[in-house]
Amino acid sequence: MKILVLNAGSSSVKFDVYGMEGQNETCMFKGLIEGIGEEAPKIRYKTGDKKMPPTVIAAANHKEAIGVAMEHIRKELSKDGDTFTPDAIGHRVVHGGTSYKSEKVDDHLLKILDDYTVLAPLHNPPNISGIRACMELFPETPNVGVFDTAFHATMPDHAKRYALPHELTEKHKLFRYGFHGTSHRFVSQETAKFLGKPLEDLKIVTCHLGNGASLCAVKGGKSIDTTMGFTPLEGLMMGTRTGDIDAGVVLFLMEKENLGIAEINKLLNKKSGFLGMSGVSNDARIIEDKVEEGHKNATLAFDLFNYRIKRSIGSMIAAMDGVDAIVFTAGIGENSPWTRKDVCEGLSYLGITLNLEENDKRGGSRDITTPDSKVKVLVIPTDEERMIARDTVEVLK
Ligand code: ADP
Repeated sequence: MKILVLNAGSSSVKFDVYGMEGQNETCMFKGLIEGIGEEAPKIRYKTGDKKMPPTVIAAANHKEAIGVAMEHIRKELSKDGDTFTPDAIGHRVVHGGTSYKSEKVDDHLLKILDDYTVLAPLHNPPNISGIRACMELFPETPNVGVFDTAFHATMPDHAKRYALPHELTEKHKLFRYGFHGTSHRFVSQETAKFLGKPLEDLKIVTCHLGNGASLCAVKGGKSIDTTMGFTPLEGLMMGTRTGDIDAGVVLFLMEKENLGIAEINKLLNKKSGFLGMSGVSNDARIIEDKVEEGHKNATLAFDLFNYRIKRSIGSMIAAMDGVDAIVFTAGIGENSPWTRKDVCEGLSYLGITLNLEENDKRGGSRDITTPDSKVKVLVIPTDEERMIARDTVEVLK
């Protein structure tokens, strides 16, 4: 089967084509359109050994962008007069609400996703317009929604709730939904393969550390807790987000600084984290450079980021009553030996001994502990698109 995977953001669309034949999974095409609706949207892509540099295109909206993406895919992948057509399209959807597994998209599901837009106002609208565009452009091709929230459906009730009055929780569906589920699921499955053990027997803490960051306690292949909650603001400190903060601080600031809802929202989600604390950047690479130069506030931000990961790993382990492996993934998790070292140095009480040489190496799945380490620490690159392609095949079976 040939699966087109789409990840539609507010002004960008990532599009990948996977050939899925049993255990054989081939990424045939990987592309990105940025600047949709802006002055000069650009497309770039890779296929086989060919890598195309950014080229300006016309794309006033998602529908036009997806149309252009398909033109390029067809140009590259059509063979012997046979126009390339995907068998199905898999879509990343951030908030699936009460859709607890990947599903074929129909009008009813779209309506439910629309209803959950209020809980993911930045992410769900472009995800949904990507799906609608595909339904219009390729009416014969089935669409499958793969939800970031779905993996966390298995969290027990006590982990899913806040200590708020019951009626309010039910009225507004104030649950801890959790996010990055597709990544946590992919990485935990790859961990089991890497260790050569059944996933059902493993307790894994997956650490997805990118611009957004979350941990997940994966016990026997199921999410039983995660650090993000009702929105992707809860939990770890992030590029521009505070992560956990006393709600009292929010109330205090709203009063003392006379901040409205939009302003406090911007402060917590866009102006805090690495960016707000350092005053320099939201980008972990720049923060690390500044730490090396002795920048005081960047150093404090970097220390807080690593400290909170370590502290939260402790709570994920408590949730599972033990741990077999801690796994780092995403931009920072895969690429920052410094963060991994800082986090793991604080976990020596678990019997973790890092292999510093392995930790410093780049690329690929690997074990970064010594053979006698009681808990394995791994680096496993995430691949949400591949997971979406797998789910799409599964749903259509
Ligand atoms: P997202 O998908 O959430 O936008 P990514 O998973 O792409 O995020 O991760 C982006 C983050 O990864 C950025 O903060 C970036 O600085 C960081 N990153 C990428 N490469 C490195 C590196 N070599 N060292 C440290 N951080 C890195």
